[in-house]
Amino acid sequence: MLLASVAVPVPLGQAFTYQVMPAQAAACRRGMRVVCELGHRQLVGVVLQVSDREPEIAVSKIKPLGSFIESEPALPEELLDFLIELSRYYLAPIGEVLRLALPAVERTPTSQENLFEGKARMIGRMVQEVHRVDPCPSDVKTPKGQAAEILEVLGKGPSLVRDLEKQFKSARAVVQRLEKSGLVRTSTATDVKNPFFAQVAVRDTPPSLTSAQSVAIGAIVTALETASRQAFLLHGVTASGKTEVYLHAVQRCVELGRGALIMVPEIALTPQLVGRFRARLGDAIAVVHSALGDGERHQMWKSLRSGQVRVAVGARSALFAPVANLGLICVDEEHDASFKQEDGVRYQARDMALWRAHRVGGVCVLGSATPSLTSEALVQRGVLQKLELPTRARAASTLPTVEIIDMRRNKAGPTGDRLLTLPMVRALEQVIETKEQAILFLNRRGFAPYVLCDNCGEIVRCPDCSIALTVHRRGRPRVVCHTCEYQSAIPTTCEICKVGELTEEGAGTERIETSLTKLFPDARVARLDRDVAAGSKSEAILERMRRREIDILIGTQMVTKGHDLPDVTLVGVLDADAALAIPDYRAAERAFQLLVQVAGRAGRGGRPGRVVVQTRQPESPTILFAMRHDVRAFLDHETELRRELGYPPYARLALVRFEGMDDDLVSSEARRVAGLAQKALGSFVRLSGPAPAPIARIRNRWRHRFLLKSADRQKLREVLLLVSRTPVDRRVRVIIDVDPMNML
Ligand code: ADP
Ligand code: ZN
Repeated sequence: MLLASVAVPVPLGQAFTYQVMPAQAAACRRGMRVVCELGHRQLVGVVLQVSDREPEIAVSKIKPLGSFIESEPALPEELLDFLIELSRYYLAPIGEVLRLALPAVERTPTSQENLFEGKARMIGRMVQEVHRVDPCPSDVKTPKGQAAEILEVLGKGPSLVRDLEKQFKSARAVVQRLEKSGLVRTSTATDVKNPFFAQVAVRDTPPSLTSAQSVAIGAIVTALETASRQAFLLHGVTASGKTEVYLHAVQRCVELGRGALIMVPEIALTPQLVGRFRARLGDAIAVVHSALGDGERHQMWKSLRSGQVRVAVGARSALFAPVANLGLICVDEEHDASFKQEDGVRYQARDMALWRAHRVGGVCVLGSATPSLTSEALVQRGVLQKLELPTRARAASTLPTVEIIDMRRNKAGPTGDRLLTLPMVRALEQVIETKEQAILFLNRRGFAPYVLCDNCGEIVRCPDCSIALTVHRRGRPRVVCHTCEYQSAIPTTCEICKVGELTEEGAGTERIETSLTKLFPDARVARLDRDVAAGSKSEAILERMRRREIDILIGTQMVTKGHDLPDVTLVGVLDADAALAIPDYRAAERAFQLLVQVAGRAGRGGRPGRVVVQTRQPESPTILFAMRHDVRAFLDHETELRRELGYPPYARLALVRFEGMDDDLVSSEARRVAGLAQKALGSFVRLSGPAPAPIARIRNRWRHRFLLKSADRQKLREVLLLVSRTPVDRRVRVIIDVDPMNML
């Protein structure tokens, strides 16, 4: 009996077994999508394995396999195997993992489960395109009126019926008549609106390489040409021209007949960046992005799968792009936290990129100005080969000087804001005077981060989360929870003591923007954070910055990443301590990366840059190393601390989190499972907790967790398997986070 094991999109770990009917035997291959019955539901699943072994369950219980969706496997063998391994590593249900990699998703109201998609019918919106027939057939009368006008429009090129309708009310009917008389042809096409391809890319000529770039490219190209499975850490200071290295590597990879994948942090995936790739590689690149519609995603997917398009560019989820004959993966800003998915399947795309490249016998390049300790440890172990770009690419550009302002001695400047000290204001004045540009970084959006009672000292919290509410004043004044988006009017008296008056404490980007606008009425001040710039709006603000229509740009993390703005000469870090204060063993690493990255926005053009950092702990080694751009010293220092404390990269972590509405139940289930795990630990794994998470409640769900730590990956895995198989109360959700990034 021929059996197929099939993964279905349900949140269960295992695959299900079906019988392959004799007529299906020849066509049934791994990766095929197939209809199968589960209970009384019809689902679309993916064939993981075909075998004629003795079934492990009673033959009478095995149902026959339904029909195949396509004639070819939807997932190439390489990708399927990779996904299976990923699912094992993260202890994530295979069905959920496959869902990440499959194209456009069918979401019909009746069959929510059919997430593995059916036939091609639901793909995107179809639009009708009209072409004029040239030369026009001689036996037809020349049309008059609207028809003539439409024909004239079409003389300039084909047009969509939808667009014609904007100009001519009855365009649809007229087109139908014109088609009957043979004057026009119509065709249906998928409506592809790709924001990244809105503008035509002008081809550029590569600059002549710096010697460090040549050496790096040489090493990567040699690895590609000899098809040797190698991985590199490209450590290049900000603006050292790392992108140029990726471009050359990708170009060579494509010449060698293989495909390439470039992954960038979410925030860096902008039309400007994609434009740079298109300018060099042409339009034969696919952009993988969460904002793509189903139709676009499907088309992108098909063109990669068929090998018609060989290069994919995207954020985290591009890891699963079905690039044919994959030969190269580049991960830009490999240290960036956005490569970790924080819900559903909690995978780390940088780590998995190394795996996927290794499995296909390809080359992997991880690039950063501030390599993660993880990657640095891989260099030490000989897994990654280090390539360095020690100077900026443009001859005139040098790394900026960094000055520290001790906020304990420098109080509020003229605006009264503690985050705008006098030296900071002076530095801004100078930029305005010399008509250069400044970026101010403050990782806190909104007007004021706290509302505080002057009587009982309590802060106003979200009713559903254990989080302080942030005041927003732009638009309707209100308090907002940055975790669950709860909003309400700004309270005036304290809910807790009922007598105290409330004051707004601290400053976010909105307040600083307001103060600067008042202080410098003639300067053009703008803000870049999630409140003003959702999605493509951030690009518009950066474009204004590029066109020099903004003098001072204040923003959150969004201003720190990847932007190449040559006229920015001043970068101000308003509150360097905020990043250091996060209760996480990675706080110093993150703060260092943030400081060096934001400093890297200064002086990228010809004029020297200046970075001004405000802090209350000027003696902090993290800040001092960042000030000297001394990545080497920081890595050594921090590595030593991690070794002493037995934290990654010297151990592996897994976080087991319990969530539910009933605090006592969640806590007791956490204790019970932790107890079971404790018994199974042996001497190689350590368990700490269980304890309430630092954010004890989110969206009304209480959160408890325990942490497992081990230097032995296999031993840790055994304990996790035990945890994942332990049944818990239905009202409690258990989340296993392998290699967690977010400890909150
Ligand atoms: P990184 O990715 O390392 O931050 P980029 O690739 O953005 O750096 O390069 C910074 C700037 O230097 C860009 O404007 C780029 O066009 C320019 N650049 C890169 N390589 C060279 C080179 N060899 N000669 C001159 N300019 C270069
Ligand atoms: Zn909330």
